[in-house]
Amino acid sequence: MTIYITGHKNPDTDSICSAIGYAALKGEGYAAGRLGNVNPETQFVLDHFGMAAPELLGDMAGQEIILVDHNEAAQSADGIEEAKILEILDHHKIGGLKTSEPILFCNVPVGCTATIVTMFYKQNGKTPDAKVAGLLCSAILSDTLAFRSPTCTETDKATALELAAIAGIEDVEAYAKEMFVAGSELGSKTEKEILYLDFKKFNSGNTTFGVGQVSSMSGEELQELKPRMQAYMEESFAEHGADMLFFMLTDIMDESTDLIYCGEGADAAVKAAFKSDAEDRTYLKGVMSRKKQIVPQLTDALK
Ligand code: MN
Ligand code: MN
Repeated sequence: MTIYITGHKNPDTDSICSAIGYAALKGEGYAAGRLGNVNPETQFVLDHFGMAAPELLGDMAGQEIILVDHNEAAQSADGIEEAKILEILDHHKIGGLKTSEPILFCNVPVGCTATIVTMFYKQNGKTPDAKVAGLLCSAILSDTLAFRSPTCTETDKATALELAAIAGIEDVEAYAKEMFVAGSELGSKTEKEILYLDFKKFNSGNTTFGVGQVSSMSGEELQELKPRMQAYMEESFAEHGADMLFFMLTDIMDESTDLIYCGEGADAAVKAAFKSDAEDRTYLKGVMSRKKQIVPQLTDALK
């Protein structure tokens, strides 16, 4: 039976590329999987390096599985409670999954799972081939917003540059820009598609809240998107299965986030979380990371 390696639902570039990269290291008997559609940014990366998307996985009950880029049941495969988790490689907060046996659980507070996957290559005295190196490098650029995110460590940067050299990416910044532009081709997308491009659910106390994020090189595009997304979130609120919805419009060049939200108590939560009394408290300068600068603060505010 094939052992699948998968990232989280609504997969991002790290979830897809770390799964492919780790499956390539593990070798025979292992395959990369995914828990949702490939987003436009990731499709650009796969096309750029001539790689196919991993297999779309269904219910994983009764199967053996390795998780990358997540460790929470709410973000994982359907049937995960009845699956046998063999390993977890991640860089997020520890979110409550339980196993019945000891497993390899490697959680490192770096900017990207691909950085951890590359550590495993080194530990095993191996080097990823050029295509896999390109995917892993892309994942690091994606998760760290090309080293701008506060989640980015020196290790991420050094690793990405080593991988870029293997992959033949000459100008990392230019490549990252190309990737981000491909990823924010939002023109033809519906508001629902945009909300779910990169969306995760979290729990705090009795509150379930969802946080989506879109990152763009174009502040103008984000300002145009903001009222559309606000209106959509309000009118479709009931169908998302959360008590509160938050959506981050992250401006990569301005290194800031405009945070819009809806749901009862969301305004008070934002006020408490970001200690802002400003009329427009949705503008958060220096905030780019959901996992480090939004979710912990909201989780505390909602406790
Ligand atoms: Mn991810
Ligand atoms: Mn990640």
